[in-house]
Amino acid sequence: MFEKEKLEVIKTGMKLDRYGLIALAGGNVSLRMPTGEILVTPSGMIYEEMVADDVVVMDIDGNIIEGERKPSSDTVGILYILKHRPDLNAVIHTHQPYATAISLIQDEFRADLTTLGNACRGNIKCTPYSSPGSVEMGMDTVEYLGDQLAVILSHHGVNTVGDSLKQALNAAVYLEECARAYLAARACGEIRHLNDEQIQQTVDIYKFVGQGKGEIPEELLKRIPSDPQK
Ligand code: 13P
Ligand code: ZN
Repeated sequence: MFEKEKLEVIKTGMKLDRYGLIALAGGNVSLRMPTGEILVTPSGMIYEEMVADDVVVMDIDGNIIEGERKPSSDTVGILYILKHRPDLNAVIHTHQPYATAISLIQDEFRADLTTLGNACRGNIKCTPYSSPGSVEMGMDTVEYLGDQLAVILSHHGVNTVGDSLKQALNAAVYLEECARAYLAARACGEIRHLNDEQIQQTVDIYKFVGQGKGEIPEELLKRIPSDPQK
C-alpha cells in the first residue's frame, strides 16, 4: 500500500542529509494521503538504509494500519499538527544547525532575505523549548506557525510543513540557506532590515515562481523603498 509515496518519503529523508539538514537518523518525514492515512518514517533508522516497508502507515489517531517498524518518536506531535491543520499534508522535522542556532539567541527569524519570504512565507518564529517526543512539539508548531511554512523548535531543530513534501523540503532547505547568511552577517555587525511591505512582496511574488504558475504581475515588481537604516 502506498509504495510510490513511501519511496517519496524516503527520498525526501535522503535529501535532508544531502542538504546538511540532519545527520544519520536525525529528524523525520511524514505525509498525509488524500484518503487520510499518514505515512511516518521509522524511529532511529538511516534514510539511505530504509526500504518502502519500513515506512509506517497509520490513521490520524496513531493506530497502525501497516508496517512492522516502530514509527518516529515524534509521532504524537506530528499527528497533532496534521489533525489541527487539515490544509497541510507534509511535515518535515530536521536538526538543521544554522536555523537551530538562531533559536539560541532570539525568538524570531525575520525575513530580511528575500529567499525566506519566498520559501517560508515570512518571518519564522522560534517556539519555547519542548522535549523531543512530546505532544508540545506539535502544539507549539501549530501555535507559532501562523501562515508560514516553518517554525524553529528552540534548542532542538526545525519543523517545516506544506501541502506537499516538495513544499516542506523547499522551506527547510532555504530556511537553512538564509540562516547561514544571517548568522554570517550577525557575526560581522548590525543587521539591515527589509520592511513589512517588502517582505510581503517577496511572499506574493513567489506565488508566480515556477512552472505553470503564470507571469509575475507588473505591479508586484515595483520597487518598495527601504526604511532609513538606523
Ligand atoms: P525519530 O528517529 O524517532 O523520528 O527521532 C528523530 C528526532 O529527530 C527526534 O526529535
Ligand atoms: Zn529531533
